[in-house]
Amino acid sequence: MEKWEEYVRRVVPYTPGEQPKETDVIKLNTNENPYPPCEGAKKLLENYNSDDLKLYPDPACTELVDAIAKVQNVKPENVFVGIGSDDVLSMAFLTFFGSDKPILFPDITYSFYDVWADVYNIPYKTKPLDEDFEIKNEDYLEPNGGIVFPNPNAPTGVYKETQEIEKIIKANKDSVVIIDEAYIDFGGQSCVPLINKYDNLLVVQTFSKSRSMAGVRIGYAIGSEQLIKFMSDVKFSINSYTLNRLSLKLGVLALEDTDYFNKTTQKIISTREKTKTQLESLGFNCLESKSNFIFASHKSVSAAKIFEELKKRRIFVRYWNKPRIDNHLRITIGTDEQMEKLICALEEIVACED
Ligand code: PMP
Repeated sequence: MEKWEEYVRRVVPYTPGEQPKETDVIKLNTNENPYPPCEGAKKLLENYNSDDLKLYPDPACTELVDAIAKVQNVKPENVFVGIGSDDVLSMAFLTFFGSDKPILFPDITYSFYDVWADVYNIPYKTKPLDEDFEIKNEDYLEPNGGIVFPNPNAPTGVYKETQEIEKIIKANKDSVVIIDEAYIDFGGQSCVPLINKYDNLLVVQTFSKSRSMAGVRIGYAIGSEQLIKFMSDVKFSINSYTLNRLSLKLGVLALEDTDYFNKTTQKIISTREKTKTQLESLGFNCLESKSNFIFASHKSVSAAKIFEELKKRRIFVRYWNKPRIDNHLRITIGTDEQMEKLICALEEIVACED
């Protein structure tokens, strides 16, 4: 081993879902939106003058921050933006989780949380979900250095009522509670209004799912002015120019097109419910989902087998060979047409194995 290797920060990185090079696949593995970004985004790109890119972007991201504040009914001082919610969450971990006490999050949850905790040397403890994959409030009452979980949770899609989340926030006024609302627009109620009551609450959302802009990379956090100021200080100590000029414009356009947002999120919800019924009739057990995906296991065919069989048919879903979830598949909701093809493939796979 070279001497310098002793000083390397060693981490086990997060593994994102596969992004296949081929385009003729049905991609239901990374919870992207099957519908394109709003019409305004298309028009902007068609007419974009690349001269605009000579200049640095606005470091404060003012126009986008103002547009988010308007949609969320908060002040611009309550908004922090970053390069996808991964960037925002990572900044929040770095800013708020500096205690010697462990931060708490569920055992089955977004698998980036333990990676950020490791890279920033944050102690953490995971709390097991109950047998119905629900977060148990009583697990979050012990002394801690912070709390984070998604609502709805990922990869389960299970939603927790805001009144229940408020109990957790109320009982943890000495630490920052982060609610990761990446999937909140698919039928859940946001905790954003609670930021006026609790200055230790940070709510994180993204343009990647409900706004069809995973490729643009915009995420944001809403919290008390104090929390946002602390996060901005850390951000401006690392990288002043996060969002590029084009992303800033695309984000504003996505927020302006409320009709398209409502239409596409509603469509995904109705496709989800239809798909769930079809999966159940094929012998799948599906958790109640308020997200743009379904977490399902089959009564007789293993998830690993179905995953491989689907892949052979060029349908990509997500599978984790991890304790408690190694017999489940996470299936992103696509268009009705894509889901019909999925159901046909599953009929075939299940019939072969039964
Ligand atoms: N939180 C959760 C729970 C997620 O599933 C994802 C998507 N992988 C993210 C945050 C990050 O999304 P993005 O960085 O695209 O905003």
